[in-house]
Amino acid sequence: MIHEHRVLNPATEELVATVPATSAAEVSTAVTRAAQAQRTWAALAPADRARLLRRFAVLVDDHRERLARLEVTEAGHTLGNARWEAANVRDLLDYAAGGVERLTGRQIPVPGGIDITFLEPLGVVGVIAPWNFPMPIAAWGVAPALAAGNAVLLKPAETTPLTAQYLARLALEAGLPEHLFQVLPGAGDVAGRALVEHPGVAKIVFTGSTRVGKEIMAGCADRVKRLTLELGGKSPNIVFADADIETAAAAAPMSFLDNAGQDCCARSRILVQRTVYDRFLELLVPAVASVVVGDPSDEKTQMGPLISLAQLERVRGFVPDGADGIRGSAPTGAGFWFPPTVLTGVAPDAPVATQEVFGPVAVVLPFEDEEDAVRLADATDHGLAGSVWTRDVGRALRVSRAVRAGNLSVNSHSAVRYGTPFGGYKQSGLGRELGPDALAAFTETKNVFIDTEA
Ligand code: NAD
Repeated sequence: MIHEHRVLNPATEELVATVPATSAAEVSTAVTRAAQAQRTWAALAPADRARLLRRFAVLVDDHRERLARLEVTEAGHTLGNARWEAANVRDLLDYAAGGVERLTGRQIPVPGGIDITFLEPLGVVGVIAPWNFPMPIAAWGVAPALAAGNAVLLKPAETTPLTAQYLARLALEAGLPEHLFQVLPGAGDVAGRALVEHPGVAKIVFTGSTRVGKEIMAGCADRVKRLTLELGGKSPNIVFADADIETAAAAAPMSFLDNAGQDCCARSRILVQRTVYDRFLELLVPAVASVVVGDPSDEKTQMGPLISLAQLERVRGFVPDGADGIRGSAPTGAGFWFPPTVLTGVAPDAPVATQEVFGPVAVVLPFEDEEDAVRLADATDHGLAGSVWTRDVGRALRVSRAVRAGNLSVNSHSAVRYGTPFGGYKQSGLGRELGPDALAAFTETKNVFIDTEA
């Protein structure tokens, strides 16, 4: 069994920290403590819970730069992204705090009495997070779960436990009850599995690969445990001939190179209407070349390294030597670097065109008309995000509604906002996070009937 995890800086391969791995027995102790803390927390007046969460948000804001630098060091994120991520955690906490006093039930007309519903907290929630956006993705679960009156046990990815641990310290400093929010670093198949199997954990929020998501779903089925899954993606970027082609081509590189392509919403399938295909490629070449790849702690850097050697090897496996396409440049030497890569002349059903690469690699495929574009866009098992570039409003809406994916953007690549719902169709996930209903996903609806005739 692994007793500790070594955290490496992906840009230099230097050892950053060694973090003890939580055993299954320690998870069990954490669940017992969390259950006690949850009762204290749920008994607080809603305004007091909201105040404590806002205080937590203020502390995150005060420590934003330190959290961001930590994310750069452990995950290789660019400084600009990491700053945005730390601010996003603050915003998520603020947004969730605003929901505490608005988590209202309903009064439903029935004969013979009064019928009311309550949104009761679930109890202890397990959040299992990936390494690609360690801070914000953890907070997508942690903030609304706490706001709805639950305790949270967060299992960060093996490679990126440090920001999660830092956030737990800030929660304590803000005055949240001890053990209400605990971080349990450790192996997925030990600490993660223990959360899934423990009868005292009422819900699992999992973000990660589709493969592990399916295992977790099976594990939860045994106890009919509540579950949210945010899984992989292979999202299309659909460019119609009537779009502003210059803008679409200029925006395309960072839609799959942001976070070195380790983004579940990466627009890694660029679908271009055949009549403008050559023109689009011509414009794409300088746009890819202009992306600044290098030291993530440099303010000007737009793309950093991959997270690990294993990820680098996985990405390499998708790109045949000598494949046609466009290549950017990347540092050589220490660090897990892969250059921006756009492949052309790829069969639409090739693995690189249909499977999630999770690296700085996209394919460009031509399409004929609207119907063909939607057919190609849907030709994967995933359905997380997508973009539609067109000047025709009717077409923008038709195609956005036709594509079987949870998050579409028109003339933009924006996908995730804390105030709007996020999640996947098909094998990209189950349930939705964020948005106005985020807190309700961490409650059970209880219906109470009061007989007024008795
Ligand atoms: P992963 O599935 O390998 O691991 C995710 C988490 O699950 C880690 O904390 C890991 O330790 C844990 N885990 C592994 N095996 C487990 C098990 N048997 N039981 C319980 N927990 C277990 O994923 P990853 O490589 O860390 O992350 C990359 C993946 O995450 C990509 O596929 C990406 O698309 C996906 N992702 C999805 C979204 C989304 O919102 N849809 C967001 C970000 C990332």
